[in-house]
Amino acid sequence: MIETQVCVIGAGPGGCTTAIALAQKGIPCVLVDKSVFPRHKACGEVITSNCIRELAELDRDILTDLENALFKYNIKGNLFVAPNNYQFGVAYKSPANERLGLPHCYTATRHDFDNFLLNAVKTRYPSVKVIEGCHLADFEVTDDFAILRDKKGEYTIKSKLVIFANGAGNKLTKKANGAKVRKSHEAIGLRAYFKNVLPHPQEKMAEFYFFEKKYMPFGLYITPLQNGVVNVNTWVRKDFVDKKSLNIRTLMMDFLKTNPNIKERFENAEMIGKTQGSSLELGSRWWKMSGNRFLQVGDAAGLIDATNANGIGHAMISGRIAADFAQKSIEANDFSAKVLQSYDKEMQKRMKNALKLSRMIAPFSRMPYYSNFSAWLMNYWIKRSANSQLIIKLMYSKNTTKDLINPSFYYKLFFTKSAKKTNPHD
Ligand SMILES: Cc1cc2nc3c(=O)[nH]c(=O)nc-3n(C[C@H](O)[C@H](O)[C@H](O)COP(=O)(O)OP(=O)(O)OC[C@H]3O[C@@H](n4cnc5c(N)ncnc54)[C@H](O)[C@@H]3O)c2cc1C
Repeated sequence: MIETQVCVIGAGPGGCTTAIALAQKGIPCVLVDKSVFPRHKACGEVITSNCIRELAELDRDILTDLENALFKYNIKGNLFVAPNNYQFGVAYKSPANERLGLPHCYTATRHDFDNFLLNAVKTRYPSVKVIEGCHLADFEVTDDFAILRDKKGEYTIKSKLVIFANGAGNKLTKKANGAKVRKSHEAIGLRAYFKNVLPHPQEKMAEFYFFEKKYMPFGLYITPLQNGVVNVNTWVRKDFVDKKSLNIRTLMMDFLKTNPNIKERFENAEMIGKTQGSSLELGSRWWKMSGNRFLQVGDAAGLIDATNANGIGHAMISGRIAADFAQKSIEANDFSAKVLQSYDKEMQKRMKNALKLSRMIAPFSRMPYYSNFSAWLMNYWIKRSANSQLIIKLMYSKNTTKDLINPSFYYKLFFTKSAKKTNPHD
């Protein structure tokens, strides 16, 4: 039996950030994970500019350690390839990171990155009690405590407040908040590692290939990692998987074998280990993020950008905000749903812009001709967007909607020089 002020479930980026932020406020907490670290997690493994900013804000020494870590890889930008094989590249240059003198982007396996974060918790914040290999399976709220029990019957944790940072597709979270499964706001992702892949002529670029129209709006990501290893990953919305009876592994392997841009580079490729799958809770709707004696962060709160699957940075941002609300509740000794619901409001305010595009396109994506239209749009847009600053501006924009309704956006889109068709033999 363990008694604590706050129990954080899940030691991924969301949970570790929450635990660190709580420790910095002098709030004792228990951080529990069902896995023993290091553990794998299916992901594209792009550590984006907002993750780097969050780390800098949280603990600059941890960021310095990351900058010196041998497991991370510096990448320069992103290559987008349309179904018609036109392509353009965008350098990762976040204006905010530039202003703060911070790096822009890394790649790192989640095996290494998450273990690095958890080690930082263990070594720098001894007030956090870390328990690994403990699968919490039961959540009950009494008048004075939230009570958690693990699957094996070894642990009972009594805490004033529970912070769910236990990732996507979790029964425990859904039981707590009563959220209904809505397949159009959830996705299934798959990741595989390969070696002996010929490098892309433009080095150190992540590559995003939009699928042909019958599978649009989805695509396949190739991320270069340290030591010549390549991460190939894809995700498809659950309602599309059902409707089109998709087997995502087959889709991924067929694409690698047949796409004219990449098939030759993957001819002698060898898969390392097994493919790994994961659910994604998309930020295309607002999920309930709080309730009686609990808050939710990261994937457990449905904060993944549905347009690019980025979620690590959002998990870290929500972790810091959750720690602020935990502190307020502890000071007021009030952990009721009524008090904690202001966390939902604050999160919606803080994440509104980051998830705006996800929420904007969600209703259209249920329309019958959406995949044809999005394939046409990508073909057209990428073809017209050579050397354009347009995409960079959109990628890092503080107000995407304002940019999208600005006529000058369309002027630039229609009148910039055409991009190049990719030449697989280049
Ligand atoms: C295919 C794919 C590609 C992606 N690409 C990117 C990308 O390139 N960049 C990016 O930023 N994001 C990407 N994401 C999203 C990113 O992986 C998540 O947003 C991120 O992992 C969220 O962090 P988290 O801490 O909320 O959850 P997680 O990282 O999922 O951590 C949750 C932790 O909780 C533990 N846990 C779960 N249930 C229990 C339980 N009952 N008891 C105890 N412990 C429990 C798990 O073991 C796990 O360690 C991708 C996702 C997928 C699937």
